[in-house]
Amino acid sequence: MRPEIKGLLHDHIDGSSVVADILPALYAQAKKKYPFGAKEDILEFFKNPHIDIVKRFSVITDVLQTRESLEILGFNYVKRRAKEGYSYIEGKFAPQYHTKRGLTMRGATDAIVQGIRFGEKEFGISVMPVVCIGREADENTGIEIAKIAVEYDGEIALDLVCDEANHPPEKHLKAYALTFGTNVKRDCHAGEWVLSEPKETYKKRLLDNIRTAIFDLRCHGIGHAIPLGSDKELMRIVLGEGIRVAGCPLSNLRSGLIESVRDLHIDRLLDAGVVYTMNSDDDLFLPPMDEVISECDAEHDFSKIQVKKLEENVFRGAFRKIQS
Ligand SMILES: [Zn+2]
Repeated sequence: MRPEIKGLLHDHIDGSSVVADILPALYAQAKKKYPFGAKEDILEFFKNPHIDIVKRFSVITDVLQTRESLEILGFNYVKRRAKEGYSYIEGKFAPQYHTKRGLTMRGATDAIVQGIRFGEKEFGISVMPVVCIGREADENTGIEIAKIAVEYDGEIALDLVCDEANHPPEKHLKAYALTFGTNVKRDCHAGEWVLSEPKETYKKRLLDNIRTAIFDLRCHGIGHAIPLGSDKELMRIVLGEGIRVAGCPLSNLRSGLIESVRDLHIDRLLDAGVVYTMNSDDDLFLPPMDEVISECDAEHDFSKIQVKKLEENVFRGAFRKIQS
């Protein structure tokens, strides 16, 4: 049975489908030559695994270096998700990628949040912006980003994103510690990927990163947590701590991190009571939610109760509490 998902808890704004909508306008505004023809060319480019990921993203971030362009991004992101029928979304962005032309990280954050707030008013949905530390950043940059989250006093959440293999969660512990005892909700991409060798400890290292995110970074949410469903002890901890898990099944599958969606044991997580949600991750170049839902349902054949949980967990796990 197919769930009707009305909210997204793991959605990267600069990797979302809205980019394809607004990229030509952003290039025109930046007075730069637009490098693509039809909309399909953009999608081809972003889906091409032979082009370095940083290079792919720089095509986007190159024209997101001004206050105005970031406001446009935030606004149109909300517009698109509202049109798609979502009533609550958590949109992630990393301000460190928007400072090439003089904006400060605080300035970049303010601009995106401003655009999002305009969008919320206009389109009537609820949005929790999530400021992210691109984990390759040095410790001080991470601290600066965490400070922005603290200054916003709970209006935006904090996340740690990108290369988990070379930059495990503990690298930005100091940044996270700054938010302890504040109103900031903490998320962390953890248990997504680690270095492939040594093979024998691969799963253990993924689980260790999830534990670090829970116990040291004191996270309220975990992104991915691929091996969670196959570790009863960690599942008990996640349940006990009331941590929500924002999974991205087809992102993991397309990235070759799992062999089948079944490896995630979504049914087991739901039956155990884990606040698990399904998300796309980056629907600009990864399968959209429609496909995520269809493929996960095809693999698990969700029961009526599991469907209800998948639908409700979005709101149970939301960082911003809203009246639904
Ligand atoms: Zn992600």
